[in-house]
Amino acid sequence: MRVNLLGLNREELAQTLEGLGQKPFRARQLMRWIHHFGQSDFGQMTDIAKSLRESLAQHAVVEVPRLVSEQTSADGTRKWLLELSPGNAIETVFIPEDDRGTLCISSQVGCALACTFCSTGRQGFNRNLSTAEIIGQVWWANRALGRDPKGERIISNVVLMGMGEPLLNYDAVVKAIDILLDDFGYGLSRRRVTLSTSGVLPALERLRERAPVALAVSLHAPTDALRDVLVPINQKYPIKDLMAACQRYLEDGPRDFVTFEYVLLDGVNDSEAHARQLVACVAGVSCKFNLIPFNPFPNSGYRRSRPEAIRRFRDILMQAGFVVTVRKTRGDDIDAACGQLAGQVVDKSRRHVPVPAQTP
Ligand code: SAH
Ligand code: SF4
Repeated sequence: MRVNLLGLNREELAQTLEGLGQKPFRARQLMRWIHHFGQSDFGQMTDIAKSLRESLAQHAVVEVPRLVSEQTSADGTRKWLLELSPGNAIETVFIPEDDRGTLCISSQVGCALACTFCSTGRQGFNRNLSTAEIIGQVWWANRALGRDPKGERIISNVVLMGMGEPLLNYDAVVKAIDILLDDFGYGLSRRRVTLSTSGVLPALERLRERAPVALAVSLHAPTDALRDVLVPINQKYPIKDLMAACQRYLEDGPRDFVTFEYVLLDGVNDSEAHARQLVACVAGVSCKFNLIPFNPFPNSGYRRSRPEAIRRFRDILMQAGFVVTVRKTRGDDIDAACGQLAGQVVDKSRRHVPVPAQTP
């Protein structure tokens, strides 16, 4: 079988080249073609020796997921629907902001952790993505978005916050991080790659040593009693252990704070008492809060908190001295908002008319 170069980090690519009797330093040149220029055809890699191109064509391939559709929301959010294999589709979302452009990527099809307010969790677990499938999302988005007039990449930040729990697909995810950080890959700094986890602690410990990037933790409740229900993995790794792991992570992490994500659910976790408990719960951990108004999906059983409740909750955290952002709901006209990235995917792939890929 021909090896897919899209999912190899620089070290692996150099080894592969060596195996073909080639100079390992060619890995840099190849990575630039694949990731900077979005090229998947060896024949088009004009400054690579013909003998190497021929050898690559025989033994290797640059295989990207199939683009099913591409949509742009009224607010500029863009979404790509990619088919990995028949019946397995994932979505990738780009969110433009004044000072940055953030790409939100998925790490699994479905998720085994079954958080009750998350439509991915409701869908159950289907399978892990390979490194090539994780990077394939960045490849497509980067090809479509390119660079601004100053030559800066439009994708300035990548967040592993789409479908799936990245720390339950650890090996593929850390190799994808290698490629995101590599100057010959996507050239992002560790501070600009954020991994979001619901708290798989042994893997978080490994990430701290192997590939520390910015960290977001899905907290969603200030007590074990409530978090056990909303984020069931809490039964295995309770809040006290989670906070200790966050503290340790910060010692090596590229940022000096953790972002705690907190989905606000009407009447469930959004009272003033919950906000005060939350202040106590994170004591000793340098952090910011990202409050996420719940994005509804069919039969979720939850409602978004009322605007006054969101304001009150935010104010209590701010009065306690925390930096708090309330996430704006972006792209909900194209179902690209948090927690809307699943369930309807398979149906949609049948309804959408495929659009041709944009050339760079
Ligand atoms: N599994 C990881 C990353 C993917 S979920 C994690 O849980 O952190 C990314 C974020 O979207 C999490 O903070 C998650 O709690 C949030 N989310 C899930 N469903 C949501 C919904 N229906 N509305 C708003 N946010 C949601
Ligand atoms: Fe999985 Fe994250 Fe959804 Fe929980 S919130 S079910 S961990 S994707």
